[in-house]
Amino acid sequence: MKLLATASALALGAAIGLSAAPAQAQQPTFITIGTGGVTGVYYPAGGAICRMLARTRSEHGIRCGAESTGGSVFNVNALRSGELEFGVAQSDVQFHAYNGSGRFTEQGPDEKLRAVFSIHPEPFTVVARGDAGITTFEDLKGKRVNVGNPGSGQRNTMEVLMDKMGWTMGDFSLASELQPAEQAQALCDNNVDAIVYTVGHPNGSIQEATTGCSAVLVTVDNDAVRALVEENPFYRMATIPGGMYRGNADDTTTFGVGATIVTSADVSDEVVYQLTKSVFENLDQFRSLHPALANLDAQQMVQDGLSAPLHPGAQKYFREAGLLN
Ligand code: GLU
Repeated sequence: MKLLATASALALGAAIGLSAAPAQAQQPTFITIGTGGVTGVYYPAGGAICRMLARTRSEHGIRCGAESTGGSVFNVNALRSGELEFGVAQSDVQFHAYNGSGRFTEQGPDEKLRAVFSIHPEPFTVVARGDAGITTFEDLKGKRVNVGNPGSGQRNTMEVLMDKMGWTMGDFSLASELQPAEQAQALCDNNVDAIVYTVGHPNGSIQEATTGCSAVLVTVDNDAVRALVEENPFYRMATIPGGMYRGNADDTTTFGVGATIVTSADVSDEVVYQLTKSVFENLDQFRSLHPALANLDAQQMVQDGLSAPLHPGAQKYFREAGLLN
């Protein structure tokens, strides 16, 4: 009965030439943000963005969900296929996906990829068992290493660095592909000697390893690292501050990228504008939601690590807010 009534109302609307637009404007818009593993920073950051957006829902009708995913590479691929509206992605992954370079050479450039804003820095983090005799990245040779799950940013960064050093997976006695949420446990259970994670600090996963079994942060600084930093605008040297994790009192030198929010040119200006606005208007709260987000700076978020073109919806907000000319 109800269905029939709706159908005839639609037919009537069509018959008298009503546009479908006003009816659609009443419908909520659903968006999903692809994040990373639940023990990382992307997942809580995505959840925080959705919550900030929900506060003004009565004004825009957008319903937002944050989804745990395999990470950066998964997210840009899902954006390309239209499965996601937003994703968190490392700045190196954003660059290569947009330009069709690096691991995206075969797929070609994703011309619809758009940058929204950047968030926190992500040092490439190598953590080893205290008894494994590993203090530098070079010491990983011949060891059991979790090289990261396919689809993750750390797997990509790891492969880039290995490639630059002339290493292959065969240089490890074991190369496992565990998810970030599983790797601290695997390290403490002595199933692997070291794990890698490109991630904001502090985070739960590294905390789990350093408190669970006195794991140590490993220096990642050699000629290959220096060359990568010199040759690529999205890499920079990075320091993980001493004292952040139990048993790791000294600073650790490594290199890193930035985490960024990306979307597709197919997502409407209004949706991107509203999401951007809700984050920048609640920046104090966003900073307080996770310690890795504590140092976010509005101006840097508009400038750093964005190699794909800015989405016009984000641009509109940044101009209004005086963050962009
Ligand atoms: N950088 C990681 C990746 O791109 C995710 C880190 C996180 O979840 O915070 O897969």
